[in-house]
Amino acid sequence: MNADLHCHSTVSDGQFAPADVARRAHAGGVTLWALTDHDEVGGQHEARRVAEELGMGYLAGVEISVTWASRTVHVVGLNIDPDCQALIDGLERTRNGRAARAEAIGELLETLGVPNAYEGALKYVSNPDMISRTHFARFMVEHGYAKSTQDAFTRFLGDGKPGYIAHRWSKLTDAVRWIQQAGGEAVIAHPGRYEYTPVEFDALFGEFIELGGKAIEVVTGSHTPDQYREYADVARRFGFEASRGSDFHAAGEGRVDLGSLPPLPSDLKPVWERWL
Ligand code: AMP
Ligand code: MN
Ligand code: MN
Ligand code: MN
Repeated sequence: MNADLHCHSTVSDGQFAPADVARRAHAGGVTLWALTDHDEVGGQHEARRVAEELGMGYLAGVEISVTWASRTVHVVGLNIDPDCQALIDGLERTRNGRAARAEAIGELLETLGVPNAYEGALKYVSNPDMISRTHFARFMVEHGYAKSTQDAFTRFLGDGKPGYIAHRWSKLTDAVRWIQQAGGEAVIAHPGRYEYTPVEFDALFGEFIELGGKAIEVVTGSHTPDQYREYADVARRFGFEASRGSDFHAAGEGRVDLGSLPPLPSDLKPVWERWL
């Protein structure tokens, strides 16, 4: 089993259309796949159709932006019904404000010596409601303001950096409920990326469990190998099931490609076992 249950297409901030992400996952050896675009399920039918044509298992997915204790947390929903109206409405509300935020990012970057970034970022966007910091990062690389998308985040766009505009996303309780209403399972994405204190992490995981949350990502392209071990321990301590996904966005952008992560530690219960 090569499960890759986290990645992106042009429906959010990925480089390839859903059908092409499906082909790349299959070519990378993935046998169970989920496309998990940010705050949008518009690619789900295409992803499933091509996955099934290729004989690859498919779970419909989404990655919802949440604000918890003044920081952004991402919650992946797996095995959702992408036609669930409660989920679709919730995602639309979550996307609201992205366009205004992007204009504010553009104005801030202008003061930092990066002109025309909003118009520039829009050129990378398929869905104008889904403009993200990744699109700004790609514009900044193309126009020589950053060496890589990572560099653009480190120097400008990352949380708390000079080009960062704070934003209020959805509530954890709402995001988990929409996923549950769509028949899916909520998974805390890449916990190693959040700058919470140990006390805050315990509160986040405790609240997630109270809401019915049962799983976290352990092996993800957004974790270092040290973090695989750290969050495997967290999964053991809280009794979480574990998920695995590349968080692939674009060729040459992330740390790993589709299907190329190490396996989960063998004592952890994979979240996908319930659907096999
Ligand atoms: P947004 O939803 O507009 O805040 O953009 C968040 C996206 O930016 C994430 O989904 C990642 O694709 C990307 N991102 C966030 N932080 C970083 C980082 N430090 N390095 C590279 N990409 C990042
Ligand atoms: Mn992204
Ligand atoms: Mn994420
Ligand atoms: Mn992601």
